[in-house]
Amino acid sequence: MPRPIEALIHTQALAHNLARARAQAPNARVWAVVKANAYGHGIERAFEGLRGADGFALLDLAEAERLRALDWRGPILLLEGVFEPRDLELCSRLKLWHAVHCEQQIDWLAMHKTHEPHRVFLKLNSGMNRLGFPPAAFRAAYARLDALPQVDEIGLMTHFSDADAQRQGVDGIAHQLAAFEAAADGLAGERTIANSAATLRHPTRTAADWVRAGIMVYGGVPDFPEHDAAHWDLQPAMTLRSKVIAVQQLNPGDTIGYGSAYTCERATRVGIVACGYADGYPRHAPTGTPVLVDGARSRTLGRVSMDMLAVDLSELPASGFGSEVTLWGEGPHGSRLPIDEVAQPAGTIGYELMCAVAPRVPIRNA
Ligand SMILES: *Cc1c(COP(=O)(O)O)cnc(C)c1O
Repeated sequence: MPRPIEALIHTQALAHNLARARAQAPNARVWAVVKANAYGHGIERAFEGLRGADGFALLDLAEAERLRALDWRGPILLLEGVFEPRDLELCSRLKLWHAVHCEQQIDWLAMHKTHEPHRVFLKLNSGMNRLGFPPAAFRAAYARLDALPQVDEIGLMTHFSDADAQRQGVDGIAHQLAAFEAAADGLAGERTIANSAATLRHPTRTAADWVRAGIMVYGGVPDFPEHDAAHWDLQPAMTLRSKVIAVQQLNPGDTIGYGSAYTCERATRVGIVACGYADGYPRHAPTGTPVLVDGARSRTLGRVSMDMLAVDLSELPASGFGSEVTLWGEGPHGSRLPIDEVAQPAGTIGYELMCAVAPRVPIRNA
């Protein structure tokens, strides 16, 4: 028997969440963002639920090849563009659209020999200050691209730093939206500016021609805890579940796990679960992080170790050895534990937990 831990991928939930992105931005096309192996769900599995997208956005060329191998003939956008000149050959061959965020990428395009002009998205740095041309250089970059025979259509893109919240007391997008509108004013080309947070919170101002829906299609919430998955009508696309492999009946004063980080105040029945940080469960999840045992809410006790963690069974007399434990996602009997509720106490975000599910965890379709 393998260890009882597994990750389940919910194809229906992916399709539902994609439909939610469409409903938010009915006049835009939707890129399903599938970078990082579809946020840990697996490109191939995620594709089954997301094939209704208008395009797929990612940043790893090998992942783009995997999508083409699935016979996806529609648009694929490389969000960071190419990393070296020869990547452009793969773009020509696989018809990949690519972001252009710096002068070097334009230099490489200018030297690229191809009969297939490329579709590119020129990226503006509107204030995130990671990638993109500064506003003062944006039009010159556009003109450079426009003059290249290697370039077909030029789209325009930017990325928000604070679409999930406020920034300096006002809504998080106003300053970047203004920068984008000024820089793009009068330039021909499709626009894409919205991530999930903007698509959910600011759809009318940001939908443009394409939205880039990432976390929301996986059922994660970009602005938790201000809003939760129920508020946005998103369904978990991943369940991480395991089983109780041992039970300990402890007395007041007994401690649990490494560092004796939890001391029992009363008689406590403890379930030991086959899931640890080597599976991708966050080690920083403190005592009290929610879990479901046989679909009922309980909590972790003490430190998460490499292969195991402890849960409180004191209030769950019917549960014990062999009980099903839902670390996040869909539990039995219609129960559900949103990934955001686990990430928050662990000091992280649902994005990181999804992406961090370890290779040793078997993944299968629900
Ligand atoms: C990852 C990414 C997205 C998607 O972000 P979410 O918050 O997951 O929706 C959109 N655009 C760019 C450029 C990205 O890198």
